[in-house]
Amino acid sequence: VEANRVAMKAALDQVRAEFGRTYPIVIDNKPLPVTKTLDRENPSRKSELIGKVAMANVEQAKLAVKSCLTAFDTWRDTSVETRAKLLRDVAEQFRKRRFELSAWIVYETGKPWRESDADVAEAIDFCEYYAVEMLKLGATQHRDVPGEDNRYFYEPRGVSVIIAPWNFPLAILAGMATAAIVSGNTVILKPAEQSGIIGAKLMECLQAAGVPPGVANFLPGDGEEIGPTLVQHPDVALIAFTGSLKVALLINEQASKTPGGQNFVKKVIAEMGGKNAVIVDSDADLDEAVKGVVDSAFGFGGQKCSAGSRAIVLDGIYDQFLNRLVEATKSLAVKAADDPGCSLGPVIDAEARGRILKFIEAGKKEAKLAHQTDLGALMEQGHFIPPTIFANVPENAGIAQEEIFGPVLSVIRAKDLDDALRIANGTRYALTGGCYSRSPSHLEKVKRKFRVGNLYINRKCTGALVDRQPFGGFKLSGIGSKAGGPDYLLQFVLPRTITENQMRRG
Ligand code: NAD
Repeated sequence: VEANRVAMKAALDQVRAEFGRTYPIVIDNKPLPVTKTLDRENPSRKSELIGKVAMANVEQAKLAVKSCLTAFDTWRDTSVETRAKLLRDVAEQFRKRRFELSAWIVYETGKPWRESDADVAEAIDFCEYYAVEMLKLGATQHRDVPGEDNRYFYEPRGVSVIIAPWNFPLAILAGMATAAIVSGNTVILKPAEQSGIIGAKLMECLQAAGVPPGVANFLPGDGEEIGPTLVQHPDVALIAFTGSLKVALLINEQASKTPGGQNFVKKVIAEMGGKNAVIVDSDADLDEAVKGVVDSAFGFGGQKCSAGSRAIVLDGIYDQFLNRLVEATKSLAVKAADDPGCSLGPVIDAEARGRILKFIEAGKKEAKLAHQTDLGALMEQGHFIPPTIFANVPENAGIAQEEIFGPVLSVIRAKDLDDALRIANGTRYALTGGCYSRSPSHLEKVKRKFRVGNLYINRKCTGALVDRQPFGGFKLSGIGSKAGGPDYLLQFVLPRTITENQMRRG
């Protein structure tokens, strides 16, 4: 840990010396002249400009699709081994630049460095895992009968638009993109506006690893401006999206039509938000439960789709749990993200801060404010929000139903386990969930009845290690694709059958 700390400090200084650069759009491995840019600021220190990122317009979006379409012709026929090797080389680039990439995540998104480092580690894991999975998927299966050769195999889909959120700025963009690339598709990388520099760093790593021109194009820009062009483009075959429910619903609708009214059936992969619950049973290990709930609710300031933003606590231990929860929350070190002692940094930007503060104001009318850490001058320095706990939250209150995406935890009282499960399942989302209990029969019931994509028992309700906990939810949390899982690549390919009558051969 100490060696990493020293390396991280050096990387933070090195990256600081690079502040102020402008990152262009990259098409066919060439930068486009920069016309419009977006300033990127450090969320921990509002006035600190860390760089500028080009903002694509509709014409540049069309150019990116055209480049991907041309490159697809060759890339689709490249051997699976070559594509897998590219991913391993990308992983190698991430490894070489691990601390530097983490430092950029710290500065651009305000993520504490340990979590930033985990973001880079996950990106490495995605590349290596998908490389291995593609080698398995790439083999043609034969179903032969006498005189007839039947082949079953997978083909890439085509031009793929990768639309990513900012909260796992490297891992999610890299994960979706490399899954598409290794399956033989060509991709447009559309990072979130709030993490354009990290998107540019991913593009640098892809280029350093030798990605051929047009196989990956880097197209930063305003989602509302260029999104519809990309999503509705007749030459786009697949959209891989991770982000908010609102945008996912829009993309699903738009992907079926061109502006001219022509209909399409495109593949849309959509992974969205959550309003995740952790159930604390009356016989739970309270040390573990308090620690797990605090980590899950306040890790990266609650800005994770997996964040446990509702604690559903059984009546018998409710008061005791709440007291301990408040004490543990008081000890969180809220600081600038580049401070090595930081356990909770700022939220991403002024807009998010405004939205979260509105939820907190509404929450004061809906429930009892049980705790709010006093942050003093920090509130003016960056986009900070005090860790906030509401108690006695009615299960249908806005703060108990909407994804706040900030450090705000709702504690809800439940009569018994059945009541807790009913409340836990009572949102439109179903992404992650957790339960702390010592009762085997209760845990059995929880496993059966708590309907979420990723369930964590007697451990922190968050974290998704590639291969170990493939990640993704259902209901309005997602279509059920599991990033980092054995069937994830199947989304990016089309199964084909070829039947050949061998009797007819000369
Ligand atoms: P967002 O939906 O605001 O933005 C995501 C991406 O969509 C950005 O790149 C944005 O530019 C783009 N976009 C916006 N409007 C668009 C349009 N009309 N057409 C096409 N693209 C458009 O989400 P965000 O604020 O970046 O991320 C936070 C959300 O992501 C939260 O809801 C969180 O729960 C979710 N998330 C889900 C997962 C998961 O695996 N399920 C993982 C991480 C984040």
